[in-house]
Amino acid sequence: MDLDLTEDERDIRQWVRTFVEKEVMPLEQDVLARERRHERGLPAEELKRLQDTAREAGFFGVLTPEEHGGMGLSAVMAALVEVELGRSFVPFRFAGEADNILFHATEAQQEEYLRPTIEGTRRSCFAITEPGAGSDARAIRTKAERDGDDWVITGEKTFITGGHEADFVMVFAVTDAEAHREGRTGESVTCFLVDRERGWTSHPIDTMGEWGPAALTFDGVRVPQSAVLGEVGKGFALAMQWIGKGRYLLPARALGGCERMVEMGMEWARNRVTFGQPIAERQAIQWMVADSAVDIEALRWLVLSAAWQVDAGRDSRQAQSMAKLFGGVRANEIVDRMLQVHGGMGYTRELPLERWYRELRLLRIYEGTDEIQRRTIARNLLKGHASVRGHLG
Ligand SMILES: Cc1cc2nc3c(=O)[nH]c(=O)nc-3n(C[C@H](O)[C@H](O)[C@H](O)COP(=O)(O)OP(=O)(O)OC[C@H]3O[C@@H](n4cnc5c(N)ncnc54)[C@H](O)[C@@H]3O)c2cc1C
Repeated sequence: MDLDLTEDERDIRQWVRTFVEKEVMPLEQDVLARERRHERGLPAEELKRLQDTAREAGFFGVLTPEEHGGMGLSAVMAALVEVELGRSFVPFRFAGEADNILFHATEAQQEEYLRPTIEGTRRSCFAITEPGAGSDARAIRTKAERDGDDWVITGEKTFITGGHEADFVMVFAVTDAEAHREGRTGESVTCFLVDRERGWTSHPIDTMGEWGPAALTFDGVRVPQSAVLGEVGKGFALAMQWIGKGRYLLPARALGGCERMVEMGMEWARNRVTFGQPIAERQAIQWMVADSAVDIEALRWLVLSAAWQVDAGRDSRQAQSMAKLFGGVRANEIVDRMLQVHGGMGYTRELPLERWYRELRLLRIYEGTDEIQRRTIARNLLKGHASVRGHLG
């Protein structure tokens, strides 16, 4: 067993670390100023400039297979890259990624959707959640009915990330009402690739953080048979595959932010003097630093263990749920502690802590809430699919 990084892995990580420090972090004040003007993230041209700079150095499509022009990095490496990116709250990501389920598309669909998504000329969104179906995704009611050679889609989707900006949607609809009523979701749901021009509409939903998802309306949207992704009736498995694509990457990103916040907290504590002593001398502050450092280290190993299991081709679902749950809960505790260490300054918009405070709250909700992760973890254990001895047995 070797728990160290190879030289190549160190080099890749170092490149990203330097890139984040030199290119991404200097944009933080701009991002905070934009947020005060109710504008999200980076301006499109700024994001493109950064992505082009990274691409020139070979950083394009971290998880995209090499035959599609990407780097095809391992899951462990992707997690390490995500930690470095997470050290800044600037919502930057390398270009060249596409939704994993688009790789199952037919050759014609790949030409129309996969390749332009990788190249960044078309934007996708993934739509399963509905007003009446979130955690319980099997309760979706959006339907697609046959009409001659076409399908006609009717229903509402909500909380769709990128839904207001997307050029096309991967939408999940019930195509076999009887099977759906009987709970046979493995046969009842189909995924369709639908261009915005076909008539679906969107309106943005304001949130407490950077993320601005959208509600989508399908009012009799007509699509041809060639819009079906995969097979008719087999969409639910695709949805689960999309959601499970890299659950370890979400807490990996939070981990980078937590490292930075604890570094900021320690710096502040060394310099802030009360009652004649730096607050770093007080046990109350030291314990917050110590507890946060232990949480960070535990989270690092949960993330890396999940990523390692992905690379090893093992069933990583239990490990990924654990990393997502622990990351969501503990990252929220860490940001709260570090905001506390900064006192009144922590509450202001002069420092990025309040932004992280709002941002990280989402990690406990999307792509499976804390409660749903606990449900999954407990079920896997109780049914004997996983052991408390972990993957080493
Ligand atoms: C910013 C943002 C972006 C999103 N992006 C997307 C996207 O791109 N595509 C998409 O399809 N969806 C997206 N979602 C939807 C997201 O996945 C759902 O919000 C999430 O799954 C929770 O569903 P819900 O909001 O309906 O809450 P509910 O399912 O109504 O849950 C409400 C509460 O009850 C708890 N609960 C539910 N069931 C149980 C149970 N069995 N046992 C115990 N507790 C339970 C939940 O944990 C939660 O605390 C996004 C959401 C947000 C906020």
